[in-house]
Amino acid sequence: MSFIGDYQRESKRQTERSRCLHYAKGARCDELISAHSIQSKGQLSLIAERGHVYRVGADISLLRRTQGLPQLIKVGVNKASTFAGFCKHHDNELFEPIDNFPFEPVKHQVALYAYRCLCREYFVKENALVLADKMKDHPELSTSQKASLKETWMGHGLGFAPLHQQKVHYDQALLNRDYEKFRFTCFTSSEPCNVQMSGLLYPDYDFSGQLLQDLLERRSALDLITFFTAPMREGWAFVFAWHVSSNQTCEPFIQSLDSKVANGEKLQDALLRFTLSCCENHAIRVSWWDGLDGSSKDAAISRIHLMTHPHIPVPASYLVSGCEGIANWAFDGEHTALC
Ligand SMILES: [Zn+2]
Repeated sequence: MSFIGDYQRESKRQTERSRCLHYAKGARCDELISAHSIQSKGQLSLIAERGHVYRVGADISLLRRTQGLPQLIKVGVNKASTFAGFCKHHDNELFEPIDNFPFEPVKHQVALYAYRCLCREYFVKENALVLADKMKDHPELSTSQKASLKETWMGHGLGFAPLHQQKVHYDQALLNRDYEKFRFTCFTSSEPCNVQMSGLLYPDYDFSGQLLQDLLERRSALDLITFFTAPMREGWAFVFAWHVSSNQTCEPFIQSLDSKVANGEKLQDALLRFTLSCCENHAIRVSWWDGLDGSSKDAAISRIHLMTHPHIPVPASYLVSGCEGIANWAFDGEHTALC
């Protein structure tokens, strides 16, 4: 009985364990499907080349081969970003306005994208919690390995509480169709898009390195920001969105980005740094990545490594600088809804 083999099998089992995370889940949930968290029709087709994109590979057996360094792996778009987190009925009904129409910077659409980001994270974190729970007493593990995995399991449990709290806020707002509960800032670009992503973050430090909230102190309720790219009628958008209950952290977070840009930082550099640092769910255009020079690739990979490594401390200044000159996206518009 090999630990790695069992771990991989259990991980796959969790990923394929369909469930419906819709706020009104219940009797009306029908067949479960694999929903795209980065929608396939619009978003991935913008960057896919011959049906493929790059994803960051952090699979346990891959990391063993690369001494822990993340690598980009070419995957088919159908496998690029799926999660079985909604039944077909609820997926079609809820996300119809964003799956079948281009993104517009209005609260209804923003709320749906943000909800999908949140539910995907919920799905992934719930899986991680169950996986660590099932594996922590594996007979092949030494006593210290068991203790370490038990610590991971407890960490996942603590991390899940604020996410669950946020889902309660989002569920309530969507159930009541109260899209006014959402705030956002969106940057638009008419240039080709090279990176598609969606995710969320409990902002700890802002773009100037100032502390916004101490993630270790307030574990049961943390302010949360979601972020995603979305295809527009002309071009695409990079969006930050949050529930009004997270205003206290998210407003100054966005203000710090705006003031960095007002003081000369290039927006595309700041957003790529943010994406590489904070997003676990990317899809990257193959020809763009292949065309980067070696030092740009190294800078991007080592940034991802820094942020995903469990034992390297992340500096307070992680959003202040780094990864400049890699992104070639230019942004030409900004829309905000801060009230
Ligand atoms: Zn359902």
